[in-house]
Amino acid sequence: MPRLTSVRCNHCGAPLEVGKETQFVTCGFCHSQLRVEHTESSIFTTVIEKLSANTEAMSRNLEVLALQNDLEKLDRDWNLAYPPDSPGSETTGVVGSVVAGLAAMILGFNFPSGIGIFLVGFGLLILVAAVLQMSRNAEFRGVRNRYFDQRQMLARKIERMRAGEGTGERTRVAPKRAADAKVGMKA
Ligand SMILES: [Zn+2]
Repeated sequence: MPRLTSVRCNHCGAPLEVGKETQFVTCGFCHSQLRVEHTESSIFTTVIEKLSANTEAMSRNLEVLALQNDLEKLDRDWNLAYPPDSPGSETTGVVGSVVAGLAAMILGFNFPSGIGIFLVGFGLLILVAAVLQMSRNAEFRGVRNRYFDQRQMLARKIERMRAGEGTGERTRVAPKRAADAKVGMKA
């Protein structure tokens, strides 16, 4: 039969019952993670600061991992929809087609015979193809811009999360660098 001992939460002072062998306990009132310290003459609790800091860093790392996952999925989906070096993965110039189409039509108008009608029709086809290509280009640019925006948003989030870990370090390093720069300028 385990004997229970009364201790107080080192954080909020609430009374807690712990077993003789208990090493860790969570306060039922303030939810602090506590270490139960057993000495020969007394038993008391200390708040486990490190653990909560670790937990925070861990959840931040998990969030970074999740964001990186999202980013990789975004890239994967993009590369599946628009494989690199495939004809659909870039916009196609239409100026050449428009010039060629107009030239064929002008040439056709100057031929009175059947060849003229053929050339005009041919020029029209080229122009229609150019207009279709232009709308495809516009659509592709829209999709690509959305992809770039999402990608940048995720990358920035990841960067912010990572920077959040090293803020203490940064504020300490920055003034030193500024001082170094001044010395460098004098020399
Ligand atoms: Zn407590």
